[in-house]
Amino acid sequence: MASPVSVTFLGGLGQIGRNCAALETEGRIVVLDCGQMFAGDDLPGVDAVLPNLDWLIENGDRVEACIATHAHEDHIGALPYLMRNLSFPIYGSAFTLGLVHHKLKEAGLLDRAELKQVNDGDRFDIGPFDCEFIPVTHSIPSGNITAFHTDQGVILHSSDFKLDLNPVDGRRTDLARIGSLGHSPGIRLLLADSTNADRPGTSSSESSVGAVLTSLFRENEGRRMIIGSFASHIHRLQQIADAAVATDRIVVTLGLSMRRNVKLARELGVLRIPDHAIRDIEDIDDIDPARICVVCTGSQGEPRAALTQMALGTSRWLKLDTNDTVVFSSHPIPGNEAAVASVRNGLARMGARVIHSSQVDVHTSGHGKQQELRTLHSVAVPEWFVPVHGEYAHLVAHKELAHGMGMSDENVLLCEDGDRIELGDDGLVRLDAVGGAHIYVDGTVGDLGTTVLGDRRTLGDDGFVAVVVHVDLDRGEILAGPDVVSRGWVENPALQSHETAVADAVERELNSALDDSDITIKELAQRARRAAGRTVNDRTRRRPMIVPVVREG
Ligand SMILES: [Zn+2]
Ligand SMILES: [Zn+2]
Repeated sequence: MASPVSVTFLGGLGQIGRNCAALETEGRIVVLDCGQMFAGDDLPGVDAVLPNLDWLIENGDRVEACIATHAHEDHIGALPYLMRNLSFPIYGSAFTLGLVHHKLKEAGLLDRAELKQVNDGDRFDIGPFDCEFIPVTHSIPSGNITAFHTDQGVILHSSDFKLDLNPVDGRRTDLARIGSLGHSPGIRLLLADSTNADRPGTSSSESSVGAVLTSLFRENEGRRMIIGSFASHIHRLQQIADAAVATDRIVVTLGLSMRRNVKLARELGVLRIPDHAIRDIEDIDDIDPARICVVCTGSQGEPRAALTQMALGTSRWLKLDTNDTVVFSSHPIPGNEAAVASVRNGLARMGARVIHSSQVDVHTSGHGKQQELRTLHSVAVPEWFVPVHGEYAHLVAHKELAHGMGMSDENVLLCEDGDRIELGDDGLVRLDAVGGAHIYVDGTVGDLGTTVLGDRRTLGDDGFVAVVVHVDLDRGEILAGPDVVSRGWVENPALQSHETAVADAVERELNSALDDSDITIKELAQRARRAAGRTVNDRTRRRPMIVPVVREG
């Protein structure tokens, strides 16, 4: 009997973000990506959401290495948190490792991981896994599909992908290699990106954006151009730079991550901008505004990014006016729409002309739509399939697409975060789930639980009412208070009478409670909370957080 291979999904199935899976055979684990998820408005004060790293840390002695498929935050963003606890090599392309290197260096963790570069088409052993790296197109350079050649056959992980037949760097997805694996020895299990599984058709090629940008630059001749984009979207930056150079402009990078990524990409030769056509933001005053093309971050409305500062009028470098054109070369990621709209409005208020992706095709997705998924399925012809990387509805759509391609119900498994599967001689089966625990980061990792988050939501929605009382338990009487303090509950002038009513109710409750000579401070606090809560609710129909503070003496 051949050794079985298990896959534990630690994040990324059911929500977009925090992608992480653990493949295990013969007692050794290879971690496939370790990303973070950005927190939405429903998680107040949370900086990031991590995959279930606790499971990896508990099984840390079996972790052989991590493969980083590409350098997006939802694939490498949680590595520093994991490396604080574990030490192992990380495999990835030169560009991917460049960004991983920076991330670990910032966290002071460079000594914990040996970074091992893989090249397109490489095939070698990582522990008991025979791994092959296949080039794939996506919205960041040098991503890899991973084929794991195991005793149970080939497991193919698509990574994030689109099938761009005309990629900016000419590096196409190696469909021929996938087809040859699909033919012989055959692909036993496919794990594939589901982000756009509910969208019909084909995503347009990244290179189609270039012509649109060039004509935009022509239409805006004589004006200063400011283009917002992801700092990691090097192929977009290439096309922005090409359009700038073609219209006799100079590219000016603004924002730390933009400058860093442009430098790294130029060093690695994945971004080509002639030296005379690129300057740092410090030099902006030396350039004729009509020849300037600023590339900057903030196209997602991120609070501290360059575009946001321009919209608020607080940018150190740029003061916008009616001579400026700002282009959002991206779509808002779901959840960021409100922030993006507010930045757009701020820019318009400054007088700038604002152009975004719903008006002109200045963006295309990095994830394949249904036709591209069908192409992958038809060349891979997997025996088993698990849709990954998507919200739950995307996973279901991808499952249905696989049925449409002729896969039977039994051979497609719908999994969620925390689920575990095993590929053995008899096929793919589910093992006991390990749970998909979310780890919330606010400042330092691991200090946030659901209680704190619940409290923050209550405070944000209804404010708080605190009642402070000093008592003498021996004599059974109130020494001082109750004093009521509230924030965010009700406006003046009604506030005063509500606070007095709460104080009176708590005083009555505690006076009667203190008749019992065995009563404890804890019980008094509970009764104070109930009495205050009842009064608050009766008078205002609101549910602020009630904080009773009962002290002896
Ligand atoms: Zn990606
Ligand atoms: Zn992703």
